[in-house]
Amino acid sequence: METQSNKPPSTAMRSYQNDPQGFLSRMLERAEALWLEDYSAEPGEGIGLFIVHTPKGDRYTVNVLEQSCTCAFWQGAEDMRAITGCKHLCGLEMLITEQLAQLKAIIGQHELSGHPERAQPQREEFQRLSDAWQATEDAAIDRQAEEEEDGRLLMAETVAEFAIANSGYRF
Ligand SMILES: [Zn+2]
Repeated sequence: METQSNKPPSTAMRSYQNDPQGFLSRMLERAEALWLEDYSAEPGEGIGLFIVHTPKGDRYTVNVLEQSCTCAFWQGAEDMRAITGCKHLCGLEMLITEQLAQLKAIIGQHELSGHPERAQPQREEFQRLSDAWQATEDAAIDRQAEEEEDGRLLMAETVAEFAIANSGYRF
């Protein structure tokens, strides 16, 4: 973990400090608008990784499990990461949900018109994207369960150590 004590606050942090409520609601607004603004997502190389394509043609890799992103905001505002993340991180799940819904609608239209084979690319994209999201959710759940298990073990250890430390008084 890097220390940030000597660094001046980032521009984002200053803007957040000026108006936390406003900053957070603007961030959320941008996160929710990804799909409408022509962003799209595709699975990256590995569980929890997604590539977000921006309307300008940039690509950022969002790591859901590590909660990180390669965008300039994320890279530039270290002091903001724990507070808001970036719009790609915040909006990814919604973006994927919207994208899957649209693919499903296109597939449905082709089926209705009697040409389900025409939706083959969309069917493949749907499958890839929904599988990747499902695998990410499963991994997140596993990770959480492991952390809880670690917590329980640590607690049991502490209780045992306490018992041992105090057992002397009983003998
Ligand atoms: Zn980002």
